[in-house]
Amino acid sequence: MWYRVGDFSFWKRPGRYRIRIYFEDKTVESCPFVISSHRIASQTGPLAVRFFYIQRCGCEVPGWHSPCHLDDGRFPDGTHHDLSGGWHDAGDYNKYNGYTPLSVYALARFAGSEADRLGDEPPGFPSPLDEALWGAEWLKKCWNPDSNLLAGMVFSGYGYWGPPEEETDNIPGSGDDRPVLALGWNELELAAAAFAVLARKTGSSVWTDICRDMWETVLSQPAFDNDLNRGKRLLAAVEIHRLFEETESSSEAHSYASSLCDSQAADGSWNVWPMLDLGLVPAALAEFLRVFPSSSLKPEIQQSLEKFFLLWDTQRVAPFHIPKWDKDHIFYPYHPGEWYAGQNSMYLSLAWAGFCMENSLPHPLAQEAEIRAYGCLDWILGANPLEICMMEGAGTIHLARYHHRYESIDNGLYGHVPGAICNGYVRASPSSDTPFLDIAGNAWQTNEPWLPHNAYFLLALSEYERNSHRKKRIRKR
Ligand SMILES: [Zn+2]
Repeated sequence: MWYRVGDFSFWKRPGRYRIRIYFEDKTVESCPFVISSHRIASQTGPLAVRFFYIQRCGCEVPGWHSPCHLDDGRFPDGTHHDLSGGWHDAGDYNKYNGYTPLSVYALARFAGSEADRLGDEPPGFPSPLDEALWGAEWLKKCWNPDSNLLAGMVFSGYGYWGPPEEETDNIPGSGDDRPVLALGWNELELAAAAFAVLARKTGSSVWTDICRDMWETVLSQPAFDNDLNRGKRLLAAVEIHRLFEETESSSEAHSYASSLCDSQAADGSWNVWPMLDLGLVPAALAEFLRVFPSSSLKPEIQQSLEKFFLLWDTQRVAPFHIPKWDKDHIFYPYHPGEWYAGQNSMYLSLAWAGFCMENSLPHPLAQEAEIRAYGCLDWILGANPLEICMMEGAGTIHLARYHHRYESIDNGLYGHVPGAICNGYVRASPSSDTPFLDIAGNAWQTNEPWLPHNAYFLLALSEYERNSHRKKRIRKR
């Protein structure tokens, strides 16, 4: 496969275009594309938010399904507690507090951002803030201040394939309520961060109070012994400080930031499984610098971000901007019989980090980080080996099928949820590190949409438009 990179960024005139290339007696024509200001934000932002709306559980989503799973859920001791609401997490109907907190955080951060204001959403759909509040209401139901735990998940497995409202009888306590189970970890940090942003943006004491409760619980428990958890604590501390502006949150944020600088490996990496959240730690450090621009940690953090970016740069899969999984593998090196899936959250979390770092790195690394971040969005939106736009409804060529139980809904859309971002490319087999996307079938490893992809997309988009807005202001001076 041959790739050629062409730079026609000098061409600014708005319009709809194709590129035609003559090469070795052949003519190759690109998909049509549009040049207009803020095209990415105006088109993809509303789609990314609408995906969450269509994933809603526990209410009618017109054109998709009637109220479903109103009888969630049954706890291990046999009691029933109302956990209706939230979002179907992926192409199944289970609901997890693995990535629901991140999703609420991302929607809340995106709400009111420059990218949100540019959104070209038709009337009739909830705003990003409304959608964040929908998710937050479910998180609130899941929070048990007596046990200091968030309910882990409402889980009915993967066996049912039909409209969601027909999976259970919707009557609480009648015997088919879905079970509530524990998760391997307790995602309080990002839930506290999400509540802090909502408290700031709504002014409601409901979110202020629960944010304080949850943050006190976080601080009363030891951090997990991994950098991802410390990164989440840093992000939460930064958001808590934005809300309360107290000395305690400042010193907590400084403590986590310092510890992340210390735990960074010599090659620039952190101890984070790259599959989903690779960009979270550098994004959190960049956020710290935004809130504490005069911190004594600034030189250390800038050096740390520079090391991380140089690692990304040396491991990138040219001519694309995504990095390899590690120095020896492009995609996740799964083994026969093991679980595996595409890495779009890894790339989108990096896009978020790259746009955030743009404000923290010296010239010219800052501009290079921004180019790499754009490149990760490009990968999702069509600049990939099969030229598939992996966000449904945004580009020209999409997957033929998604791995989604909404395929069984009789609305003529066959599970093509607008704004859904699929898992993405995997290696063709354990022994072959060549790119594979299921363009004919609906393999879940590549074609299933998961909440974190859209969450990281929204976080990236809010930073991307913040940067372009800032540059425009600088140019005007
Ligand atoms: Zn449901």
